[in-house]
Amino acid sequence: MITFPIVLSAPSGAGKTTIYRRLMAERSDIGYSVSCTTRPPRAGEVDGVDYHFLTPDEFEQKRAAGEFAESATVHDHAYGTLRTEVQKVLSGGKHVIMDIDVQGAAQFARAFPQSVLIFIIPPSIDVLVERLTRRGTESRDVLLTRLRNAQGELHEIGRYHYVVENDDLDSAVARVSAIVDAEMTRRERAPKLDEQVAGLIARLEHEITNYV
Ligand code: 5GP
Repeated sequence: MITFPIVLSAPSGAGKTTIYRRLMAERSDIGYSVSCTTRPPRAGEVDGVDYHFLTPDEFEQKRAAGEFAESATVHDHAYGTLRTEVQKVLSGGKHVIMDIDVQGAAQFARAFPQSVLIFIIPPSIDVLVERLTRRGTESRDVLLTRLRNAQGELHEIGRYHYVVENDDLDSAVARVSAIVDAEMTRRERAPKLDEQVAGLIARLEHEITNYV
């Protein structure tokens, strides 16, 4: 099967976590790359499942050793995608979906140029603020940082191949899923296409000579 990385970026509160979780529940051909972070775990988060939670020293060692396909500081904490995580999912025959901020997405696309970059936008800023405050897990300062970052992230939308508005969860998930299907049929991704088409052309040539 043709597999590739799918990068989802969005301002916090746009709903990308829900979207990728739904996609993974609905499609057996999509796996997740567990990121590393120096952020402390939130209640209910499990090490190795939600993130690999690292100390700043551990993170720096991996960064210096070139283990990350991308890394960035987001909301005052370091985040990074391990090359090995990505390759593990791809070589297992699945697309790998990743939740990466805009700085990381640009770096990642250089490391894995076959990636599909999708930006999720909220239907309105009111919805974004409502989703961020409803979560109730962040302090006022953290919320302010996230709103400022959201502004910066929206400026980088030009780096993405697709934009999906999360107005309605079901239809946003369906649109991302449709993008994955469409990308699988992209000509540039087809393995041995030249050989296959050369075979068809040669076969047609044979048919044509039978008729003339
Ligand atoms: P959170 O701490 O709320 O889980 O994530 C905060 C932000 O970090 C989100 O915008 C998310 O996209 C970003 N993020 C999560 N994992 C990674 C990663 O591996 N690399 C980068 N660059 N950003 C990440």
